[in-house]
Amino acid sequence: MTSRVYFVKVNISDPIAAVQDKLLRLLDKSNLFAFIKPFDSVAVKLHFGEEGNTGFVRPEYLKVICDKVKEKAALPFLSDTNTLYKGSLTNSKDHLKLAYQHGFTPAKVGAEVMIPDDQDQAQVREVNINQEFIQNAKVLSVYLEAQALVGVAHFKGHIMTGFGGALKNIGMGSATRKGKLEQHSNVAPVIYQENCVGCGACVEACPVQAISMKDKKSHIDNAKCIGCATCIAACNYLAIDVSWDSGGDVIQEKMVEYAKAILDSKKKKSAFLNFGIKITQECDCLAKDDPRIVPDIGIFASTDPVSLDKACLDAVNKAAQKDIFRELHPKRDGNKQLTHAANLGLGSLEYDLIVV
Ligand code: SF4
Ligand code: SF4
Repeated sequence: MTSRVYFVKVNISDPIAAVQDKLLRLLDKSNLFAFIKPFDSVAVKLHFGEEGNTGFVRPEYLKVICDKVKEKAALPFLSDTNTLYKGSLTNSKDHLKLAYQHGFTPAKVGAEVMIPDDQDQAQVREVNINQEFIQNAKVLSVYLEAQALVGVAHFKGHIMTGFGGALKNIGMGSATRKGKLEQHSNVAPVIYQENCVGCGACVEACPVQAISMKDKKSHIDNAKCIGCATCIAACNYLAIDVSWDSGGDVIQEKMVEYAKAILDSKKKKSAFLNFGIKITQECDCLAKDDPRIVPDIGIFASTDPVSLDKACLDAVNKAAQKDIFRELHPKRDGNKQLTHAANLGLGSLEYDLIVV
């Protein structure tokens, strides 16, 4: 099967209004939202950018997307989940505040912003998928309950997955912190004893009493730990973190299996946009202005997230005249996420690129 990927060239020197016009042309020519019906609630899944980051997709472009959804008499809302690492996007209150600071206000984009809280079990769902690496995916139920899904991703490099695009936005981005930890690591979090001040907040927060204090330093009992990641958010001293390297060999397969948990609920009810603008070495969780690694390429759109990511990857490598993400992250072959996703039936590795 060959899927259609639509593309419009965009350059950094284009004014925002010109990019908005091009995006509108892309949406019109591709008829990307043909599947959206009146009164559908449409989850527009994106990343609002960590504090200090400048790579995220701008709110002005989300306004164009939301306006187009509303033309169908549907009801869009912007959404993302809380991060696994400790930062400005770790809890729903701070996350929403930063999204607003970055310009994603209802007044500016014409849609509500919803940051579901994975500490509230009513907002969490386990989806039984019985795949090779993941049995039960832990996701925020809002993405299952919405009638349609539009994934909007900044296409860029990633320290753990080589690159991140549509598949990562949905797979990692719809998971609870427990689900993110399951994807990132095969073991419990680790405690950096040199940072631990012995405050005991993690002991209080752990739901299964897996943390104890010894000599005013905390310790995790790996046998008791259920990998919920609550302690990472509870520690204000950056003393608890994911063992980032312990599960890196299969993180991409796990991530794609999580994407399947969401996308199986959105058959013929989802579409994806990748912004190949300000393509950086690392993701938008980085709290800094990460420099470009290749010239701007443009915006890609498809109802097939695998073809979409493949088309972006090919375009980036063509612009760089080498496999640039592999060069920057030699241990991570991003092709793994594409082949696993194609094997799971999430899309095709073959595509036709249609320039509009
Ligand atoms: S919350 Fe952090 S600083 Fe406090 S005891 Fe736990 S690891 Fe140590
Ligand atoms: S990850 Fe969850 S279960 Fe494991 S030590 Fe931390 S709070 Fe306890």
